[in-house]
Amino acid sequence: MNGREHMPFRYDTMPRMNAENARASAQSTSPGEADDTIAAIATPPGVGGVGVIRISGAQAFMIGRALFRPAQPLPADTLPPSHQLTYGAIVDPVTGETIDETLTVFMRAPRTYTREDVVEIQGHGAPLTLQRILGLALAAGARLARPGEMTQRAFLNGRIDLAQAEAVLDLVNASSEAGRRLALRQLDGELSARAQTIRAAALGALTRIQASIDFPEEEVPLPDPEELRALIADASAGVAALLAGAERGRVLREGLRVVIVGRPNVGKSSLLNTLLGVERAIVTPIAGTTRDTVEEGARLGELALRLVDTAGLTNTDDPVERLGVARSRAAAREADLLIFMLDGSESLTPSDHTAAAELRAALAPDATPDDTPFAPGVTPVTLAINKADLPQALSEAEAQALWPGAPLVHLSTLTRAGVAPLEEAITRLALRGEAQMADPLVASARHADALRRAGESLDAALSTLAQRDPLDFVAIDLRDALEALGEITGETATSDLLDQIFAQFCIGK
Ligand code: GDP
Repeated sequence: MNGREHMPFRYDTMPRMNAENARASAQSTSPGEADDTIAAIATPPGVGGVGVIRISGAQAFMIGRALFRPAQPLPADTLPPSHQLTYGAIVDPVTGETIDETLTVFMRAPRTYTREDVVEIQGHGAPLTLQRILGLALAAGARLARPGEMTQRAFLNGRIDLAQAEAVLDLVNASSEAGRRLALRQLDGELSARAQTIRAAALGALTRIQASIDFPEEEVPLPDPEELRALIADASAGVAALLAGAERGRVLREGLRVVIVGRPNVGKSSLLNTLLGVERAIVTPIAGTTRDTVEEGARLGELALRLVDTAGLTNTDDPVERLGVARSRAAAREADLLIFMLDGSESLTPSDHTAAAELRAALAPDATPDDTPFAPGVTPVTLAINKADLPQALSEAEAQALWPGAPLVHLSTLTRAGVAPLEEAITRLALRGEAQMADPLVASARHADALRRAGESLDAALSTLAQRDPLDFVAIDLRDALEALGEITGETATSDLLDQIFAQFCIGK
């Protein structure tokens, strides 16, 4: 409980702020602003069943009280019960005009999203009404919240750490069931807990070393090298275990990038549409119409897919098509899976060979024609022989010769025959054949990068220790590792990094 519980609220003592001030302060990022009371429309723009205005900060209750008139009048100087919806109206305190019929909830700190006093006004989901209520809150002393500022306060006030704050964003943006589950576990603090365990081991080693460096004359015994090695090795193994699932985590979070390549007219756009289930890419019988790459999100079971239809890897003099080809190459390089499409109703054409050569060049630009650019670790390619509903003119051997070793499927985007096996092949690939493996905890590139740096520093510490170099050097590596690990939970994150992360949120979150 804090002392604000029985604070008297009087409208006439409230600071005034005009819209210009509100905008100006909303754009600045000075740390003193952490004390401001902030307000925003928390529901998405547009018409909806309900619209919510969220107000957070020391003056939230005062502002809420000034605007909200409960249907059942309350005794003087009292507030509606905390954490309970109260029925009533929002009234313009200056004109007395009723703005909306609402359910309003006053939530006493610290049991709130931001750990500050919070008022949420649930009105009708009418954009003009919500704007009016927000305007009243700003006039009554609140400042317009920046994107993510509510969550940033939850972080700054210690309710959640940085990884958890990012999980909020991932949860909101999740495009698949697997991604949603992953975000929820991160929000629950699983990743943070693992990072803390690793930090504790590294910190244990550092404190032992530090004691012997700081107090050499006090006969602090030199730390046992074996004990140090065990602690650092523990931390290093913890990092490696988290990183092992990072690639799969990325796929679950962002979706598997499936890029469809092949010469014009084999049916790439048709496959994209079939997998999407909507007519998105333009399907025409004229060669070369898909000049740009088209990227679409789709769901396959619990997975998210990012499907990319390419302009066709053709050798062309048309400048517009050349541009498309360049984009196709870039898309091919970024793919998790390439589907190389052929038209089964025709024998191979020179364009098919060109497409194969272009794809090889895209995937392994430095390879000589004699190299095999399909070594393990290179983007997997699946050969898809389309138009299985037509009489077939292309033999499997001919198709296979274009891309030796690639799995081969027959399908028809027209009849959907063979599409389900292709989808199964995609799913297997996305799960990296590890369907039984526990769900990964690391999914974001930022976390993976921090872990990689931590792992490198820990390994450096281990080898310094093994070479019996002075312990000061081991301490330097350990500090680097701790710094990198701290970036995950936010202990050592710079304010630039924090701004960058919270700017990705929407307003009101
Ligand atoms: P893209 O240039 O590779 O993207 O090819 P499109 O998807 O635009 O298809 C080229 C032509 O082939 C269109 O006329 C499609 O209707 C046709 N097509 C695509 N898939 C099939 C299929 O499975 N069977 C048959 N018979 N025609 C198809």
